[in-house]
Amino acid sequence: MEKWPIGVFTSVDAGLGVKLEVAHALGVPTIQLHAPAQSTRTPENAERFLARLRELGITLTAVFGGFEGESYADIPTVARTVGLVPPATRAERTREMKEIADFTRLLGCDVVALHLGFIPHDPSDPLYDEVIAVTRDVCDHCQRLGQNLHLETGQETADDLLRFIADVERANLFVNFDPANMILYGTGEPIQALRKVGNFVRSVHCKDGKWAAHPGQEWGREVPLGEGDVGIETYLRTLAELGYYGPLTIEREIPQEPERQKAEIGHAIRLLSELKAKLA
Ligand code: MG
Repeated sequence: MEKWPIGVFTSVDAGLGVKLEVAHALGVPTIQLHAPAQSTRTPENAERFLARLRELGITLTAVFGGFEGESYADIPTVARTVGLVPPATRAERTREMKEIADFTRLLGCDVVALHLGFIPHDPSDPLYDEVIAVTRDVCDHCQRLGQNLHLETGQETADDLLRFIADVERANLFVNFDPANMILYGTGEPIQALRKVGNFVRSVHCKDGKWAAHPGQEWGREVPLGEGDVGIETYLRTLAELGYYGPLTIEREIPQEPERQKAEIGHAIRLLSELKAKLA
């Protein structure tokens, strides 16, 4: 594959991301996919989706797990509702995450990713060991399927994430780096964070954001690529320094405004193409 193939975050049913047809219309060669709902995750649908991808000449590079009941309304709500951390939904979601990995295998894809949730900052918190255990469980399931598990960044500082990955002790655990999330959650300057976790970065999001007045307490603001505080040229230069030339997957979460979303993704594609021509 070419260096830094451009990608876009997509969904096939009620999930985040643009439709496959939009990805095709925008001419991107790769996608990440938000895992479809359980009723859609059938072998027949996998077959049909794969045939469609072949027809459009698009490569699927990762499938992101997501769960009913998750809400990104504000930071405390994320902590309460997102990922495999909340104890009340953990067993059910872990089962579902494994099903998503199985479905991803049917799609011939070897990368499964997710927002794990807010990992406790204090490793002596009993919840920390529980999150280690569930992550090992999911990693081991993925390992049997020949897959890697990528953790989306944002909810932890780079140092906390590195300690967590070391503590999980699984060779198929990596990072999907999202520079905007570091800003939106207020967990660290994204370029510094990228340098720290760089050895584990196997996929990335291209997304931009503005710092909140009180980072970590309130959301920063997601903005079109190139208009935020990430510094997209520096971001790509840093990825190059780290030797990362995998997909550059654009993520722009304004599904309630599909026309604006498509236009902004189109703009992001042009920006990344210019930078690629300059740097790759
Ligand atoms: Mg992201």
